Amino acid sequence: MLKLEHIGIAVKSLETSIPLFEKLLNTSCYKTESVDTERVNTAFFQKGESKIELLESTTPDGVIAKFIEKKSEGIHHLAFEVADIEGEMKRLQSEGFTLLNETPKKGADNKLVCFLHPKGTNGVLIELCQEIKY
Ligand code: ZN
Repeated sequence: MLKLEHIGIAVKSLETSIPLFEKLLNTSCYKTESVDTERVNTAFFQKGESKIELLESTTPDGVIAKFIEKKSEGIHHLAFEVADIEGEMKRLQSEGFTLLNETPKKGADNKLVCFLHPKGTNGVLIELCQEIKY
């Protein structure tokens, strides 16, 4: 793993949370993006090397909506950048971690992503991400 790439935060409403985080971080949101397959709208902020990703559910039964229902708004996942996502997935699987997707999938912010089951990581949802290079 190369570095902590971003922290994902589940929010009820981007409309209210974007201006909140703009004030908090004293920086503008640089990108909003909908990920239809995950049924989320996302908003990104950059601070130094790291990013904050806000996640809003697009449906009442989406994973983010369910997360907020169970735990309330807050930190949803930690994302680590990797150079070789498939190699890292294999390594973690052989170490006994459970992958939530068998193959890397297309995430927000031009990334291939894979999630690890939080049951095996002390309750913390971990995302591996690798930038898609064209
Ligand atoms: Zn993320």
